Amino acid sequence: MKTMNVSVVTPDGPVYSEDVEMVIAKTQGGELGVLPGHIPMVSPLKIGAVKLNTPSGTDFIAVSGGFLEVRSDQVTILAQAAETAGAIDIKRAEEAKQRAEERLANKQADLDVQRAELALRRALNRIKVGSRNV
Ligand code: ATP
Repeated sequence: MKTMNVSVVTPDGPVYSEDVEMVIAKTQGGELGVLPGHIPMVSPLKIGAVKLNTPSGTDFIAVSGGFLEVRSDQVTILAQAAETAGAIDIKRAEEAKQRAEERLANKQADLDVQRAELALRRALNRIKVGSRNV
């Protein structure tokens, strides 16, 4: 099968770069599958798992939003934070989940609800990808 290079880049540096047969990502407009030869496009991503079918297996990356760009058989994902499944500290994500859930349950007057909800979604996504339960 034909391949294309997929790079995942964050402000902390590159997270992933492999030759991939297919990318499946959750965009704001729904699930998107990209094969080699796809037309150029840019799409905003949701907090979610990116699935990468490589010639040697399947990789998963937890992405905390950002953008996916397709350009001449090169896919670039630019995200504020992204981790490969193996790089995820599940205990840390469980703790982040618990903090966010407690904040949302306590509803203190100065609570930034959107911030807490986003933290919860990042944590749930990391737990899912880190435990390969995608
Ligand atoms: P936390 O409260 O645990 O920091 P967070 O969702 O606020 O979670 P982010 O701001 O999204 O964290 O990420 C900050 C940095 O920490 C990023 O580089 C991200 O890749 C990394 N990171 C966050 N959570 C984890 C995790 N569970 N395992 C590995 N790296 C993580």
